[in-house]
Amino acid sequence: AKKAVLGPLVGAVDQGTSSTRFLVFNSKTAQLLSHHQVEIKQEFPREGWVEQDPNEILHSVCECVEKTCEKLGQLNIDISNIKAIGVSNQRETTVVWDKLIGEPFYNAVVWLDLRTQSTVESLSKRIPGNNNFVKSKTGLPLSTYFSAVKFRWILDNVRKVQKAVKENRPLLGTVDSWLIWSLTAGVNGGVHCTDVTNASRTMLFNIHSLQWDKELYQSAALVGQMSKNTYGTGCFLLCNTGCRCVFSEHGLLITVAYKLGRDKPVFYALEGSVAIDGAVTHWLRDNLGIIKTSEEIEKLAKEVGTSYGCYSVPAFSGLYAPYWDPSILDDMNRDCGIPLSHLQVDGGMTSNKILMQLQADILYIPVVKPSIPETTALGAATAAEAAEGVRVWNLEPEDLSAVTMEQFDPQINAEESEICYSTWKKAVRKSMGWVT
Ligand code: ADP
Repeated sequence: AKKAVLGPLVGAVDQGTSSTRFLVFNSKTAQLLSHHQVEIKQEFPREGWVEQDPNEILHSVCECVEKTCEKLGQLNIDISNIKAIGVSNQRETTVVWDKLIGEPFYNAVVWLDLRTQSTVESLSKRIPGNNNFVKSKTGLPLSTYFSAVKFRWILDNVRKVQKAVKENRPLLGTVDSWLIWSLTAGVNGGVHCTDVTNASRTMLFNIHSLQWDKELYQSAALVGQMSKNTYGTGCFLLCNTGCRCVFSEHGLLITVAYKLGRDKPVFYALEGSVAIDGAVTHWLRDNLGIIKTSEEIEKLAKEVGTSYGCYSVPAFSGLYAPYWDPSILDDMNRDCGIPLSHLQVDGGMTSNKILMQLQADILYIPVVKPSIPETTALGAATAAEAAEGVRVWNLEPEDLSAVTMEQFDPQINAEESEICYSTWKKAVRKSMGWVT
C-alpha cells in the first residue's frame, strides 16, 4: 500500500511511575498519531520501600516503541520519518548499573521510597547550616525524595556495587539516563547523560551555575505552560517563574523547568508535591480489591453523590513531613505574588470528571484540561526537537498552551467552597499526628 506522506514526526517516551508510553506526533499539527501504553510493577520489599525492576522499565519502553511502530505501519505511516525522540520520566527514581555488562546492580529505588530517612537525618546534622546550605544551591530541601540520598544508600548497602566501585564500573542515573544509555549501548557502552531538569532533582546539581556541584558530592511537563498540576501516581503542582529563581518562603521546592537548547535561557519553577494520588486508586484496586479498574472509581462515586462530610487523607508514604503542607496552592500564590486565575491539569487521573469538578469546587477557580491528555509527552517531544536544532514542527513551545481545553468551573458558592477546603485542611492536620 502507498505510504501516507506527513513530513517529519516526533516521538516521546513517557516513562511514569505507574506505566510507560510511547507516542508519535505529527510534526505540523502536534496531533497524536499513535501510541502504546504498558503498566509497570512496583515492589514493596519492606514497609516504606518502593522498588522497580530497571530491566522491566527498559523492556516496557521497547515494547511500547515496537507496538506504536506496528500501529503506524497499519496506518501506512513510514516510521523512518521519526526525526527526534524526547524522554520524560519519573524523575528522582534512581538506578545504578554496570557499564561493562549493562546490567543493573540493584532494583530502581523509586522517588516514593522512604528508606533513606536516617541518611537524611544524619546529613541534616553534619552539613554546615544543614538545610539552607543544600537549598541555596539546589533549590531542594534535604529529603528522602531526591536521588542523591538514594545513590548514597545503594553505595552503602549493596555489596556488588561496593566491589564494582573499585573497578570504576558503576554508572549512576535517573531513569532517563538508564534508558538513554541502554538504548544507545554499543560495544563501548551507551551515552551516559541527563538534562538540566532531571539533574535538578538529584540534589547534586547547582541550579545557578547549571553544573554538578563539587561541594554537594556525596520538567518536560511544564514546557509551554505557566503553571499546572499533574495528577499521576503522585500529585505535582508546578508554577513557571520564568528566568527568575524565586525562593519559597513556604517550603516549596525550586526546580529547573526547562532549557530548550544549548544557547537558550533556563526557566525555573516552584513546586509542591503530594506523594500519593493515583496510587490510592491502585491501592483500592490491588489491595482492597473493591474495584477492578481505575475508571470504576468514578462510576461508584457518581452513585453516592456525596461523601456526607467524610474525608480520606492518603498518607501512605507519610506527608513529606516536614515540608508537606495542606495548603500548597495558597503557598504557591503567596510565593509567586500573583494568585492563580485557573489551574491547568494533566496526568492519568484527569480522565476522572468528578475529581476535576471537586478540585474546581474546593479551589474555587476553573480547572482546565488540555484536549491532548498527553501534555507531558508533548513537552518531551518539543524539547527533543529543540535539542536536535531542527524545526520539525511549526509550533513554538509557547503555542502548546494554546491547545484546546476542557474547563471545569466551580459549581458551588464561595462560602460552601471555603467550608469544604477548611474541612479538608482539618482532616490533614488530624492525620499529621500519626503519620510521622
Ligand atoms: P504516572 O505518570 O505517575 O505513571 P499517570 O499520569 O499515568 O501516572 O496516572 C496513572 C494513575 O492515575 C494511576 O495511579 C491510576 O490509578 C490513576 N487513574 C487513572 N484513571 C483514573 C480514574 N478514572 N480515576 C481515578 N484514578 C485514575
